[in-house]
Amino acid sequence: MNEIRDILKTMEYGPAPEDGSHVKTWLENHGRKIGHFINGRFVFPEKSKSFGCSNPGNGEKLAKIALGSKADVDSAAKAAAKAFKSWSALSGTQRARHLYAIARLVQKHARFLSVLETVDNGKPIRETRDLDIPLVARHFYHHAGWAELIDSEFAGCVPAGVCGQVIPWNFPLLMLAWKVAPALAAGCTVVLKPAEYTPLSAYAFAEICNEAGLPPGVFNLVNGDGSTGAAIVAHDAFDKIAFTGSTEVGRILRKQTAGSGKKLSLELGGKSPFIVYSQADIDAAVEGVVDAIWFNQGEVCCAGSRAIVQEGIADKFHDKLKARMEKLRMGDPLDKAIDIGAVVDPIQIENIEARVAEGKASGAQCWQPSWAGKQKPNAGCYYPPTLFTGVEPSSRLAQEEVFGPVIASMTFRTPGEAIELANNSRYGLAASVWSQNLDVAFDCARSLKAGIVWINSTNLFDAAAGFGGYRESGFGREGGREGMYEYLVPAWLKDAKKLPAAKPVPTPLPAPEAAGDGGIDRTMKMYVGGKQARPDTGYSYPVLDGKRKPVSQAGFGNRKDIRNAVEAANAASGWASMTGHQRAQVLYFLAENLEARADEFAGRLVRIDGDTKAGAKKQVGASVARIIHYAAWADKYDGAVRAPMANMLSLALNEPWGTMAISCPDDAPLLSFVSLVLPAIAMGNCVVVTPSQTNPLVIGDFYQVLDTSDVPGGVINIVTGERDALAGDMAKHDDIACHWYFGSAEGSKAVEEHSAGNLKATWVNNGKACDWYSLTQAQGREFLRHAVQIKTIWTPFGV
Ligand code: NDP
Repeated sequence: MNEIRDILKTMEYGPAPEDGSHVKTWLENHGRKIGHFINGRFVFPEKSKSFGCSNPGNGEKLAKIALGSKADVDSAAKAAAKAFKSWSALSGTQRARHLYAIARLVQKHARFLSVLETVDNGKPIRETRDLDIPLVARHFYHHAGWAELIDSEFAGCVPAGVCGQVIPWNFPLLMLAWKVAPALAAGCTVVLKPAEYTPLSAYAFAEICNEAGLPPGVFNLVNGDGSTGAAIVAHDAFDKIAFTGSTEVGRILRKQTAGSGKKLSLELGGKSPFIVYSQADIDAAVEGVVDAIWFNQGEVCCAGSRAIVQEGIADKFHDKLKARMEKLRMGDPLDKAIDIGAVVDPIQIENIEARVAEGKASGAQCWQPSWAGKQKPNAGCYYPPTLFTGVEPSSRLAQEEVFGPVIASMTFRTPGEAIELANNSRYGLAASVWSQNLDVAFDCARSLKAGIVWINSTNLFDAAAGFGGYRESGFGREGGREGMYEYLVPAWLKDAKKLPAAKPVPTPLPAPEAAGDGGIDRTMKMYVGGKQARPDTGYSYPVLDGKRKPVSQAGFGNRKDIRNAVEAANAASGWASMTGHQRAQVLYFLAENLEARADEFAGRLVRIDGDTKAGAKKQVGASVARIIHYAAWADKYDGAVRAPMANMLSLALNEPWGTMAISCPDDAPLLSFVSLVLPAIAMGNCVVVTPSQTNPLVIGDFYQVLDTSDVPGGVINIVTGERDALAGDMAKHDDIACHWYFGSAEGSKAVEEHSAGNLKATWVNNGKACDWYSLTQAQGREFLRHAVQIKTIWTPFGV
């Protein structure tokens, strides 16, 4: 035993072990066998395959886990589908009571859950006790509130249906809460698969559901590996799939669910920048690195794994960081005084070692504390904190996830260079910005391509603040109002009819003979960068009237036309920097100018669509009204300011995607075009649009109105031709961030499949018809919501 006076001399930490005996007892009581939870019953199917689960802190075998088969997934899916009927029919208040009961029980069992999570995952008890488990309870409380408010706050929405949820091993119970709480609040039922490495806390959660009296089938748990996850994703019973994990598997899921009509949200990997300006409080920033990359052993999707440090302070910053690293304590995760616990599995250690070896080979300098390698507590999986300096921005170390306690540091000179380095990544999950100069910090936050930006802070989470990525970090948000939408759908969609099959595009011919009009070129040109443009091939196709007689021609666009249109849209990004007020003025002017030519437009619709005069007049009138509607929204679709923690604000900003693709349907060619393009540009996006393939001519008239309405060139780019072929080109294009497709079911499927390349967000109609005249179906917030992505900025406030 240490004498107090000895301790005072060295100030060494003594051991502070947490008692793990209640977890041992729990495991023994279950015969160290963990199965599934299906329809309110715990089952371990007799002939089930199984796998082992162990404590990464000491290698101890913990339990045998049932490996869910397709049949297990099927039973769980059927139970969830059956329970959906009664669960979704409960009032919001009734569902809220269940969620409150779960939240209370999580709090009641907090100590047990903290130890269980630590034993299963290897993360320090300090983190599970102070962060993971309190946040789990917070998520259920917060979403109990949304259940209560659902009718008033989400009017016009209904639950998405039965949800399949697949989660990773880095925050097992917290990821469960992020997915299960909003789903249950919305009225959905759930089948969840935890990660193979960390199945225990989800099983304990199922026991809590039982104890709370949650009706059978509302929450189901199927344990297993990737094959079990794949069986969930493939099962027809699911209306929504929610996934957190690697970008590679996210891409597989995007392809696998394409065309199924399942809603999909993906929370994927990241390589988040940690930017330190010379005006930063360096000591605070050094402590920030500890939380950014050594929290949870760096096994965090939003870990600040790329330090980007201003050159003038880089040496000082690295020296202070090394001094701090020397003092970090790595060891038994159940010891309350350690900073770094165990990595989840020996395989993950191998991954980290391989990445570190690559980093050394690339010429970067590797630094670890003097105690690294000398100390190997127990037989567990431990990896010391590691700093790489002099990292090349293009190296794998700077570009790919290590998912371990390894930070790659590089330097910059000017603020512009910092942003360029930070955005030089295929990911866009999070970022941390350190500067006492708030002008600099907010300017940086605004310019970063990231879903979450922490100013002078890092790794802060709350149920009220949306979390999710840009780019290949996925799409969809978890938490807050925005997270609720992931589990809701517009009520009218449930009964929407199928669109009739599209009329084929007539065979393209070299212009201008196609219409047989004696060599006069009457081809409708495309519209790119504010100028009329001929199609790359020089081919055009006849546009037919209601009696299938050629009346004119339109350019037959191809991949190169799309490429040119995307370039023009990218070059018009100044549109996003205009104020909402300025954009509104342009849009009001556009409405006025369309109204002035209403008769001419109506005539065109009568001639080609065979519309009645009254019908055509109605379409033009509705189009003018729709433009005015979005002009009104241009400066009003606000984000939100939240105060989730004392002295911290989180700002939910609605940011435009940048360049969007829009594939328009054939019906109501003017009104559907306006209904889709206007919300997108009102929010500051630039668009590449394919208008109706059967009647593009009315849009040829419309771009003349654009020319006279001060809409800057490049904001709306129009490429005519075969919708589905062009949609494929747009879905594959890496410089398009979001694609809306309104056409056939097959076309919707192809867009979702091709979008897997850069994981662009998609919004497709799955071949369902929309009544473009309906104010419920074709106008309003649903369109605006899809026209933006939310960036959450956290900032200290009055610290
Ligand atoms: P995965 O993406 O492989 O796994 C995440 C979850 O998906 C697990 O439950 C996994 O099952 C399951 N799964 C695996 N394959 C499929 C499939 N084809 N269909 C459906 N579900 C599937 O991540 P890993 O856990 O293997 O980690 C690999 C890397 O991913 C890490 O090194 C890290 O870079 C990154 N990662 C990112 C996370 C994030 O939060 N963004 C979280 C975890 C990892 P099971 O694991 O049980 O086999």
